[in-house]
Amino acid sequence: MPTIFHKIIRREIPAEIVHEDEHLIAFRDIAPQAPVHVLFVPKESIPTLDAATPSQAETIGRLALAAADYARREGFAADGYRIVMNCNDHGGQTVYQMHLHLLAGAPLGRFGT
Ligand code: 5GP
Repeated sequence: MPTIFHKIIRREIPAEIVHEDEHLIAFRDIAPQAPVHVLFVPKESIPTLDAATPSQAETIGRLALAAADYARREGFAADGYRIVMNCNDHGGQTVYQMHLHLLAGAPLGRFGT
């Protein structure tokens, strides 16, 4: 079942794309929760982290490394950032193509406080 993110990958709907390579795409979240809020999405279809298999470990790892590269490139890695992956209903997942949120640009507070 194609999601809105598949449509962004196929350029069927617009997005502010900040990085793309053969494995993944990264674009700004439409409803940012921090001054910097970028989503890193694999091109391979994986609905949730729960659905991922060991053969997809590299795909998942690439998302984190792409986020770290982006933070260094944009100059906020030393200040810091947060990466989040929501999984299923209680995790708050709304788009069922696995993705990683990168949040930065201000102190985010300690998680859970
Ligand atoms: P989730 O809740 O599944 O972890 O994250 C989905 C994210 O996708 C949300 O933060 C939401 O704001 C973002 N989003 C939903 N639809 C669109 C869209 O059409 N374009 C962009 N750029 N982001 C979207």
